[in-house]
Amino acid sequence: MKCSACRDLLSAYAEGTLSHGAAAHVQAHLDGCIGCRTFAEEMMVVEHRLARMSELEPRADFTHLVMAAVARMPAPAPRRSRMMWLGVYDLLAWAVAIMLTATGVLRWKTLAADGGLLLGKFAVSADGLYRVADHFHLTTFALAGGLVEGAVLLLFLYAGRHYLARVQSAIFGAQTT
Ligand SMILES: [Zn+2]
Repeated sequence: MKCSACRDLLSAYAEGTLSHGAAAHVQAHLDGCIGCRTFAEEMMVVEHRLARMSELEPRADFTHLVMAAVARMPAPAPRRSRMMWLGVYDLLAWAVAIMLTATGVLRWKTLAADGGLLLGKFAVSADGLYRVADHFHLTTFALAGGLVEGAVLLLFLYAGRHYLARVQSAIFGAQTT
């Protein structure tokens, strides 16, 4: 028997599916050929490892363990993060306003020029506030800005109390504030 023929039959030989005569030929060749005997042993090792790998399955309670680990993770600190986002939104609003002014998208002078037409609407118009502020220069602008700022803060606080808390509890589970 040639080495190539022997090695072709090795799998069937190992599984015991060869005829008695063919198995005897393979056995005789392996007894006399160290090369094929080494090859056969290496093949057995590989097949044994492959068989063991197929036994690697997640344990039955794998999903339960993962979910339990998730549940043990610390919950996010709600109040602090909400206050942080309040500040971020506020800073962003001012940054956008400053940027629009700097790039000339918002033209306070032009707004002030036709601001007189809107004098009657100042009580309800937010950008009317800005027009007044510009008309009476920086001191008044700062005052109006402060008023708008206060209004925005109050709005965010109201939203945070009455709306965000509900959204948060809907997402993170029942958590009283
Ligand atoms: Zn051989």
